[in-house]
Amino acid sequence: MNNVSFLGKIMIQGSIEIKTGLRIGGMTTGVKIGGVDQPVITDPNNKPYIPGSSLKGKLRSLLEKKEQVKIANGQHSCTSIDEYKNCPICRIWGIMGDKIKDNDAFTLTRVIIRDTYLDESSITEEMRRNMDLEWTEVKMETAIDRFTGTAKGGSLRQIERIPAGAIFKPMEILFNIFEENDKDLLMKIFEAMELLEHDYLGGMGSRGYGQIKFKDIDIFWNSKRSYTQGAINQNKISNGFTTPVEILKNFETIKENIKNES
Ligand SMILES: [Zn+2]
Repeated sequence: MNNVSFLGKIMIQGSIEIKTGLRIGGMTTGVKIGGVDQPVITDPNNKPYIPGSSLKGKLRSLLEKKEQVKIANGQHSCTSIDEYKNCPICRIWGIMGDKIKDNDAFTLTRVIIRDTYLDESSITEEMRRNMDLEWTEVKMETAIDRFTGTAKGGSLRQIERIPAGAIFKPMEILFNIFEENDKDLLMKIFEAMELLEHDYLGGMGSRGYGQIKFKDIDIFWNSKRSYTQGAINQNKISNGFTTPVEILKNFETIKENIKNES
């Protein structure tokens, strides 16, 4: 590696509230008892969860559109070190190691997003009465032909989704700070979260599924020194701001709390 330093990690914690039915597709093969045509993805205990990869991929694609990155063959493709250095997407999400030779420093990924699990206590009695399966509701939807916009004949499908009102937590997003200007780059994560609140997570967004909200956010700064001293997640830097909008509005003062300590 070439001169890679490590200043610390930002930990973003929070909750994800489901505003309209959320559907992140699971395995359709391998039969669950009483299975539906289009199940949601579940953890080993058969409870729905939000895979970190789904959240990470969606945040990336929304930010790619906003930043108007270079696209080739339908894909975002920075190919030189100069392009990479000026591209927030590549700096945050990393690039494939084989794209740029002999320079590992330029392939580092800054963001890590954990899986987020269902908070069972968010499912109220009233929600339960409207649910069809243990944690979910099942809607009948016709498959729509993408080209004609009309219903395909006889194509009624059972769609499993997580009901509005469900809360997933703890959401955890880790953000590596390798160099000083990564502190500015952190802002892009909150921009992407804000964009996602005005878009959708999972499938069937065109039918109103997948509206979510980020809540109860705490941001911690874990400097290099906090790792050597075992003092993790003790330095809260979010100044009481708990939503992406509030955090963006106050980003400059939050950023000042990210102090280097070696
Ligand atoms: Zn790029």
